[in-house]
Amino acid sequence: MHPLCFKPVVIAVRFSTNQAYSQYAQGDIQNGPPPMDHSMAQPPVCQPYSHGAMNLSGPHPSYPQQYGVQPSMQQMTNQMSGMQVGSGPLTSAGPGYAPPPSSEPPISAAYSAAAPPSYTQAPHPVSGAPSQPPPPSEPAAPQPYYDGPPPSQQPPFPSSSLDNSPSHLAPSPAQQTFPNSAPPPVSQALYSGPLPPPDLALSHLPCIPCPVPCRPAPSQPGPPHFHSGPLPNAPCHPLYVPAAGQPPFPLAPCSSAFGQPRGPQPGYAGPQYPGQQNYGAVPAPTPAPTQKRLDPDSIPSPIQVIEDDRANKSSEPFTTGVKGQTPPLVTTNFQVKDQGNASPRFVRCTAYNIPCTADMAKQSQVPLAAVIKPLAMLPPDETRPYMVDHGEAGPIRCNRCKAYMCPYMQFIEGGRRFQCGFCSCVTDVPPHYFQHLDHTGKRVDCCDRPELSLGSYEFVATVDYCKNNKLPQPPSFIFFIDVSYNAVKSGMVNIVCQELKTLLDYLPRENPEADSVVRVGFVTYNKVLHFYNVKSSLAQPQMMVVSDVSDMFLPLLDGFLVNVNDSRMVIESLLDQIPEMFADTRETETVFGPVIQAGLEALKAADCAGKLFLFHSSLPIAEAPGKLKNREDKKLVGTDKEKSLFQPQSGFYSNLSKECVAQGCCVDLFLFPNQYVDVATLGVVPVSTGGSVYKYTYFQAEMDRERFLNDLRRDVQKPMGFDAVMRVRTSTGIRATDFFGSFFMSNTTDVELAGLDCDKTVTVEFRHDDKLSEDTGALMQCAVLYTSCSGQRRLRVHNMAVNCCSQLADLYRNCETDTIINFFSKYAYRSLLNTPTKTVRDTLVNQCAQILACYRKNCASPSSAGQLILPECMKLLPVYLNCVLKSDVLQPGADVSVDDRAYLRQLLSCMDVSESHVFFYPRLLPLVKLDGGSLPMAVRNSEERLSKGGVYLLETGLYLFLWVGANAQQELLSNIFGTPTFSQIDPNMTSLPELDNPFSQRLREIIDSFRSQRSRYMKLMVVKQEDKAELIFKHFLCEDKSASGGASYVDFLCHMHKEIRQLLS
Ligand SMILES: [Zn+2]
Repeated sequence: MHPLCFKPVVIAVRFSTNQAYSQYAQGDIQNGPPPMDHSMAQPPVCQPYSHGAMNLSGPHPSYPQQYGVQPSMQQMTNQMSGMQVGSGPLTSAGPGYAPPPSSEPPISAAYSAAAPPSYTQAPHPVSGAPSQPPPPSEPAAPQPYYDGPPPSQQPPFPSSSLDNSPSHLAPSPAQQTFPNSAPPPVSQALYSGPLPPPDLALSHLPCIPCPVPCRPAPSQPGPPHFHSGPLPNAPCHPLYVPAAGQPPFPLAPCSSAFGQPRGPQPGYAGPQYPGQQNYGAVPAPTPAPTQKRLDPDSIPSPIQVIEDDRANKSSEPFTTGVKGQTPPLVTTNFQVKDQGNASPRFVRCTAYNIPCTADMAKQSQVPLAAVIKPLAMLPPDETRPYMVDHGEAGPIRCNRCKAYMCPYMQFIEGGRRFQCGFCSCVTDVPPHYFQHLDHTGKRVDCCDRPELSLGSYEFVATVDYCKNNKLPQPPSFIFFIDVSYNAVKSGMVNIVCQELKTLLDYLPRENPEADSVVRVGFVTYNKVLHFYNVKSSLAQPQMMVVSDVSDMFLPLLDGFLVNVNDSRMVIESLLDQIPEMFADTRETETVFGPVIQAGLEALKAADCAGKLFLFHSSLPIAEAPGKLKNREDKKLVGTDKEKSLFQPQSGFYSNLSKECVAQGCCVDLFLFPNQYVDVATLGVVPVSTGGSVYKYTYFQAEMDRERFLNDLRRDVQKPMGFDAVMRVRTSTGIRATDFFGSFFMSNTTDVELAGLDCDKTVTVEFRHDDKLSEDTGALMQCAVLYTSCSGQRRLRVHNMAVNCCSQLADLYRNCETDTIINFFSKYAYRSLLNTPTKTVRDTLVNQCAQILACYRKNCASPSSAGQLILPECMKLLPVYLNCVLKSDVLQPGADVSVDDRAYLRQLLSCMDVSESHVFFYPRLLPLVKLDGGSLPMAVRNSEERLSKGGVYLLETGLYLFLWVGANAQQELLSNIFGTPTFSQIDPNMTSLPELDNPFSQRLREIIDSFRSQRSRYMKLMVVKQEDKAELIFKHFLCEDKSASGGASYVDFLCHMHKEIRQLLS
């Protein structure tokens, strides 16, 4: 036995169904090894131990003050403090932590022998497709691709492998990997105003109220600001044509229009929205004739933009070979072919043609950022990144900036040296990597090597890239189950234990044929921690209680982290017994800090990275490190002190995060709160370690089980890397200056992620530090070093090249609004930590107004100041920005709790563009004619688009709502709910009945497919028109004025126009 294991109290417990929880902490403690022969399955027997004050299976002593600290407990704590010897972590030398002999990933062994001779052409990897397809569910398992020959000295990690040397060098001459001749995407002019000269980038909007009459169109009869014919070179967008009889623009002054409730809008019965009419919608009243308003149908429609992109871009694959090409929208289904730049599934940029100078960038105010999802899962029809193995030599890198070999390296001197596309430094080609060049100067093996021809690939990392120059162990998963009163009472403990029995068979693995090498451990806790020995040789699990939580230590080494298959019987027995053991608990207090500390100590002792799964119910008020107090104060909302609500209570968890990251200890937190739990503080460690927080407020087993279990299953199984470090390198002239996401940074360049799963994104902002060249463009290389779930050290590399421009118009033609919104929302949500909310909101509005004003001033053709002119690819910026401003985080309604806001704030920080898009602008589908494989076209998020006779599905990314109109057709109701009567629909149902009709089947298919596209399971809620719950639903109709005071889209557009005009005047 390890010396440190001696003093901690070791307890063997007889688990019995009638055992009173509050007793064992005292009664069953003994020093020395646990008696192995005490089977937990034995009938309850009195267990007289040396301290035997208590009887395990005896009657529960009655404590009138059931929730207070029992005196005996306190004595015990003191006693144990005295007993503990030293507080240092257990060393990894302890028994039981040798790596399992079978832990080597099978893949690396299978391919390691095929080293080709130096100076010859490498094997043909890309066409070696037969060996390529790994299991579809595991994108992090690319095939080894090429085993390189002999070792050479490589710089050790981390001191230099990620070192970014100064890169202020002259741009490399003609680093032309991609043809620069492709035409820029042509923007459409949607609505043409008073016939300005041709401007491809223009999207003219109807004039917004202005005191000055607008200049009439010289060649156009009719309303001065509307033009129904196409501009030269620019087809007119039908949506922008005013409806017949509608005034072209509102006459009310801006000031009164902003904030004014929207009147119902009749004429929205265009052919593209059949759902509006099918169920006998009652025509809405016409707006007051005195107040002529902006026609909602004449302002940019998200639905139209989404549908246009879908129609134009989903048929052809998106190939990444053309530099600076804006990808299809996240809402479009498209296939990607990697031809030298990273797929948009891995990297999306705010702009694909960036200003050459800092001045230009500053003038435009367009953020330069990339949203990177390094381990994104790809659809089955796309090729996952290939794996390149250069053997012991490791990846080829630039001598100076350490960029990895990629398509932007140019080979010179007959192939003996290469010039770096990032820093221009010339590096010798190692002999084993030499290859001849063809007549164009390209290596003849270019197409056969992923690192020379593709945007994304992986390298097998050598020992130099490992912590302490030691190959890593496979990771471990440790499950911590809160067994306090609330956790048991809600049914959570029972559900978790039942589910884990199955789930342990689905631990991540790279080879579906082999067992997972991830080891598991189990702990339960309330104000003390119970560790379990589940060693395979035991007949029954053994419990060890640590009640001195002030200085957490691990009471056992051998038997804590085990292989599931070896210990299956013992684990199943444990999971069966936990709910029974704590069924009658009266303990309401919990600790939190010591729980994470225990997991950290366990991973340290095992010398591995891993993930902690915490199932936690309440504010940790028990006396312990990291103890919290209830500081929820709604009076602070809206004040300058509001920011304190988002800040952690103390520095304890930030410090703990640092230790966790150093160990590669990722923390996932599943919260089941019935009241304030201080998510802002409890989330600090998960958010800093690449983990996730899930929150199930007022968890009820029958209502929430499905959502929780699906989240848990996905979370346990999802492909992920451990102990990761990400570095973004850029070509001379720009550099990465700011980062957003779930990670930790101890310097200004390395993003450290204890865990990085397939759903997490890191958003990176770039700034100029020199002038860029239109000839060379700008390059970015994101390299993520991580340990795979099989324990292999790898490097995933994503490359991205964008164009550079000296004309602002080129910038405004190549922006991606969804990505800009992703960046702005992350920026704003983070600013809340230090800035009053109102300032954050004002800053956002101001920056967007500047973006649009700069466009108007420098790119748009001259036209009346009364006209709002938006760049085509940013015409949705106002509507989406308004959604960000109205979000619960930035403008909460009275019913939104402080915890909810903290939770959403953290959640957004690592969302990809697809998730942030639906989060801010939910998808609203009219459920009509669900035939065929296609979806009905969505409608805009406004109440006026809803028909009383219809049923609608709303997807927010976190929830699904099924809204049922009060006059919904009987046939429709029968098809969906099995009853033709509105009043008989049960609004509490969480899943739809499985009816045997095509409509029901198709609807359930749609719901399933929506759920499968999101990283979190969306709970379904049925909302009947005019029910109370409709308020929640209406909250997501984000084009309308919101209950919390958020402006309607129309009003906000007027407001933005006013802001822009002020900037221009
Ligand atoms: Zn370089």
